[in-house]
Amino acid sequence: MNRKVIIFSAPSGAGKSTIVNHILSLHSELEFSISATSRAPRGSEQNGKEYYFFSADEFRQMIAGDKFIEHEEVYPGSFYGTLKSELERIWAKGHVIVFDIDVRGGVNLKRIFGDSAFSIFIKAPSVEVLRQRLVGRGTDSPEAIEKRVAKAAEETAFAEGKFDYVLVNDDLDKALKEAETAVDKFLAAGN
Ligand code: 5GP
Repeated sequence: MNRKVIIFSAPSGAGKSTIVNHILSLHSELEFSISATSRAPRGSEQNGKEYYFFSADEFRQMIAGDKFIEHEEVYPGSFYGTLKSELERIWAKGHVIVFDIDVRGGVNLKRIFGDSAFSIFIKAPSVEVLRQRLVGRGTDSPEAIEKRVAKAAEETAFAEGKFDYVLVNDDLDKALKEAETAVDKFLAAGN
């Protein structure tokens, strides 16, 4: 069976969700991998749609039961992970899996899936632009913004040389087109 996967990783503020949603809307064979998390649902998020929500205890039990292909404590006390059952759910339909996952998780999945995976790192054009975007979003305090900016710089350094493709999200329309072209090329290739 063809078991291709596409991995999107980015520091916060790089515009990852917009790009991932755009790519998902292009091909019916692409399906979003719903991660498990121990963080609380935000806004209108629904269990089984954006995430599978669990308590930290339940999450730890699933780690102990070897239920995850990868998992990370992305923020202190907040666990995120990809369930093995989620991969099987999507592959059973013959679909290509699309991951929206943190940078370390993305590197781990690329290592696991090798040539069957296409991994894309989305980058904000600069630290200053990233800071402006986070300020503009208006959801974080100045301290939280500085923490996110520092984490983004650290993640960008960690990602260096570890992804198949680096997409600089300078102009959103251009970035969407570029992502589209890169994904189409991967889907058309015979790996
Ligand atoms: P948020 O809480 O904003 O939805 O997500 C926070 C971060 O966790 C994002 O960078 C997101 O990509 C990442 N994330 C979501 N699901 C997973 C997962 O299954 N594994 C890992 N390692 N990171 C994830």
